[in-house]
Amino acid sequence: MSVAPVRNVALVHTIPELREAVREWRKRGESVGLVPTMGALHAGHASLVHRARKDAARIIVTIFVNPTQFGPTEDLSKYPRTLAADLEKLREVETDVCFAPSIEEMYAAGFSTAVHVEGTAKADLEDRFRPTHFHGVATIVAKLLNQAQANVAVFGEKDYQQLLVIRRMARDLDIATQILSAPTLREADGLAMSSRNVYLSPQERAVAPTLYRELEASARRIREGEPIGHVMSDAREAIAAAGFAIDYLEARHGETLARIARRQEGPVRLLVAARIGETRLIDNMAV
Ligand code: AMP
Repeated sequence: MSVAPVRNVALVHTIPELREAVREWRKRGESVGLVPTMGALHAGHASLVHRARKDAARIIVTIFVNPTQFGPTEDLSKYPRTLAADLEKLREVETDVCFAPSIEEMYAAGFSTAVHVEGTAKADLEDRFRPTHFHGVATIVAKLLNQAQANVAVFGEKDYQQLLVIRRMARDLDIATQILSAPTLREADGLAMSSRNVYLSPQERAVAPTLYRELEASARRIREGEPIGHVMSDAREAIAAAGFAIDYLEARHGETLARIARRQEGPVRLLVAARIGETRLIDNMAV
């Protein structure tokens, strides 16, 4: 019996080391794929690596819990950090380089620049509850794209508004890396995989798939022609009855995130953020 060779993942912490690896690959004519993450890796992240591999010979996964995208009352200090287990998972999906920079490496003393985003970053969805979030995301992703100079970079539809913000930012700043997306990977009961799911108590975990079920039922009813407003208010009621505090549940245009009243104005995307206990979950679905 032969065992498939497993690539070694090179763990690098500095931008010069990352650039050196990319330079070597480029010399050999190998294409490069980038998958930015905050670590605590799960199968959803692995699916992004698989997506990147379709378009790139070499894969960089970055692990950086970016402080500038967390608000003052958010979970930055308790965000799960599991580097040893992450490296094991990256080995299984055959990642070439894991780039795990320190905060000082990414934000050197005197750091004074930020990427300011508008448009889909001001859609009155995540930005209403996390007003500085997308500036932090856009700044760190712009830096990672510049550092890696990859051919492609992959982002999950799980963070749908973020995906649209990054696409727009890359276009507006003439970043040469092609932005690709991958669908949301879910647990067997429909709950979207997330590093934050580890926060859920067993009772909370049991009701968490309500979000998925309500998105799916709503998408079906809208497809069948029921009025969007009516369907959304039923779903809000069901999600609240399950014990969630809803931040938002809305039907929006899938490309612009503009408010949408009728399915014909679509493509329609349903987006939800809701808190159960101390944990905030987000999800979304195409109609
Ligand atoms: P995070 O580590 O949560 O910042 O996520 C890193 C990347 O993985 C982002 O592009 C996310 O959209 C993506 N991602 C997170 N969860 C999932 C999932 N369940 N399925 C697919 N992609 C995901």
